Amino acid sequence: MKKGRFGIHGGQYVSETLMNAVNELEEAYEKYKNDPQFNEELAELFNEYAGRPSRLYFAKRMTEDLGGAKIYLKREDLNHTGSHKINNVLGQALLAKKMGKTRLIAETGAGQHGVATATAAALLDMECVVFMGEEDTKRQALNVYRMKLLGADVIPVTSGTATLKDAVSETMREWTKRIDDTHYCLGSVMGPHPFPTIVRDFQAVISRETKQQILEKEGRLPDAVVACVGGGSNSIGSFYHFIEDKDVKLIGCEAAGRGIDTFETAATISTGRLGIFHGMKSYFCQDEDGQIAPVYSISAGLDYPGIGPEHAMLHDTGRAEYVAITDEQAVNAFEYLSRIEGVIPAIESSHALAHVMEIAPKMGKDQIIVVTISGRGDKDVAAIARYRGEDIHE
Ligand SMILES: *Cc1c(COP(=O)(O)O)cnc(C)c1O
Repeated sequence: MKKGRFGIHGGQYVSETLMNAVNELEEAYEKYKNDPQFNEELAELFNEYAGRPSRLYFAKRMTEDLGGAKIYLKREDLNHTGSHKINNVLGQALLAKKMGKTRLIAETGAGQHGVATATAAALLDMECVVFMGEEDTKRQALNVYRMKLLGADVIPVTSGTATLKDAVSETMREWTKRIDDTHYCLGSVMGPHPFPTIVRDFQAVISRETKQQILEKEGRLPDAVVACVGGGSNSIGSFYHFIEDKDVKLIGCEAAGRGIDTFETAATISTGRLGIFHGMKSYFCQDEDGQIAPVYSISAGLDYPGIGPEHAMLHDTGRAEYVAITDEQAVNAFEYLSRIEGVIPAIESSHALAHVMEIAPKMGKDQIIVVTISGRGDKDVAAIARYRGEDIHE
């Protein structure tokens, strides 16, 4: 496979100035990825700071209630800062530090990745600037204040639709302007090579642990691994060490929003087409002229108009299956898990849970599903209340 390519997807579609930055990053990553000292330091951050390994929890009541396959929850919601994002951020921040960088910049949509990056910057004593669509800064005022508490500057982005895709574009522009002391800590398995590979490797800790944990608990591999897909980092991390195990079904759940037959959707595999954007070739939601289309989902963490190039390949080859889950299905799953297991999942993760609720009853009692709970749902409580017609003051 050619460098940075996933089938026909991936690549490095960036300006000459950015080429220097991505080349420098690639070289550094090649040097450190197998360096024992680097990996020891990262393992210590994962374990002592982020709280890894995360639990693989047998959801007994949910399993009994649905009456089919045994369901295990991979609890990334229990990590420090409340989601899987910390895995990637600690890896990249440590790498940046080794490269002699003193400043981290990042894009954020709902603010989850921005908070994780600001956290790592505080821990490793680095400067931090987070770019966030102006619309999103209004919707997520609490996370903006959180980032400021952690010592980060938050810059509202007013271009385009003033949301996540514009924040990514602005962060790339900022990186072009200041490469010497700055690392762009990208939040998902997207963008130009080497980001999709780097982010996947740091998130692969999820499936590395899952495999060991399920073998300990069940003595065999699961029949299916299910995870939600925005850019695709928690899902690729959940899939990675099972890709070679052909009997393990891999299922990604994208956000259908109000439905894939409406314009208010973020389901890239179901509705997107091949294109080049943000430095990579992959599938993107586009209008008939090939312009990137505005996307919508109740879940701010899933409303990105593209999908990581490795997922695009796994879709092309049929190794992974992608399904679209509506707002309504996700909200039902959010409420269901809260009541039945006492675990309030992120609305993003609820998309994966909704699919598990569909397939588990149709599977045998001897079969096993692992579903990744990518984050905790505290941040979503007010939005879900609003969806149900109740106005609680945040
Ligand atoms: C950001 C986020 C996602 C979506 O990002 P991926 O890169 O697709 O994992 C999913 N769940 C949670 C909790 C998030 O914060």
